[in-house]
Amino acid sequence: SVHDPHYERSAVIDLDAIRHNVRRLAAAASPAKVMAVVKADAYGHGAVPVARAALEAGASWLGVAHISEALALRAAGIDAPLLAWLHTTDSNFGAAVAAGVDIGCSGWELERIVAAAREQERPARIHLKVDTGLGRNGATLEYWDTLVGEAMEYQDQGLLRVVGIFSHLAVADEPERPETDHQLAAFRDALAVAEDAGVDAEVRHLANTPATLSRPDTHFDLVRVGLGIYGLSPFDGQTSAELGLRPAMALRTKVSQCKVVPAGQGVSYGLHYRTAAASTLGLIPLGYADGIPRVATGGPVRVAGTTYPVVGRIAMDQMVIDLGQGVQGAALLGAEAELFGSGADGGPTADDWARAAGTINYEIVTRISPRVPRRFI
Ligand code: PLP
Repeated sequence: SVHDPHYERSAVIDLDAIRHNVRRLAAAASPAKVMAVVKADAYGHGAVPVARAALEAGASWLGVAHISEALALRAAGIDAPLLAWLHTTDSNFGAAVAAGVDIGCSGWELERIVAAAREQERPARIHLKVDTGLGRNGATLEYWDTLVGEAMEYQDQGLLRVVGIFSHLAVADEPERPETDHQLAAFRDALAVAEDAGVDAEVRHLANTPATLSRPDTHFDLVRVGLGIYGLSPFDGQTSAELGLRPAMALRTKVSQCKVVPAGQGVSYGLHYRTAAASTLGLIPLGYADGIPRVATGGPVRVAGTTYPVVGRIAMDQMVIDLGQGVQGAALLGAEAELFGSGADGGPTADDWARAAGTINYEIVTRISPRVPRRFI
């Protein structure tokens, strides 16, 4: 728990920050509603507590990739509208129908969903997905009218209900690019085809976090926001704070050794770093098995109010910072070490680690491994 004095490393999740971010995004989306995207264990933050916090703060839908992720939320007693959109031919459509989980459908799933509805003697709730340009799942525009027609035949037979129509954007994080306009136009065409076929969907949805923040014309009835509810910025040149968002995850541990070494001491596998002078090395007990990218040498760690770059290779369980000559002996043994947090007081952020690793903030938080306990505040 939060109060366990024996925690060794933890990802502290600020549920107040989650609630704040949901309210901020809901204000941007209004009058459209908010689907909180909590796939991948809520981008590493903990799906059940985050889902509850998001619903408290005004989200009215939840979204996940896999049916198994949706069933875990239902098993925790969460009964909000819930969509799962990525399936394999082994996915348990019957369990989804039985649990009242909405199912995304790009084409091949339709027959299986209908079979599940027959078996469960309960109509399936589906959202038809159209590929407007991302080139991942979703029906091609050529196949769209066939899919819509088939779905409507099944709806007329009482086997399913087309609850939603949706698509996903490819470049909304780069607002100057023209492809979002092309995708929006294609989505409008697809909606017109569906309407002509008699589809009367409750929710049409297209926008992710960057589109929610920068493109009101993409909001329709519902926005699907992931990154923003975790307080992270989807835009290269804009920080969380500039967007009015608060990063919800802080990754913390304690300095686990602190020792004075001579000039020329090599550090970590490969000995790619050597101390320039006699110096104090601080050992940080987090490594790539905890989800810190191995390539992120140089990433920041804050100890006692100062931020130090990681020196030498990041190992499976540990990494090293060079505390220099200002630290006497073992003075910082047991001091709190923060790899990233809210950034509010100038401390390091997940964005800094993304830069150090040559990746995006999504990947930094999502990959913090189950080895790191989540503590909720
Ligand atoms: N919708 C779909 C289909 C997604 O796959 C995702 C996540 O990648 C999202 C919405 C949320 O995107 P974001 O985290 O950028 O808000």
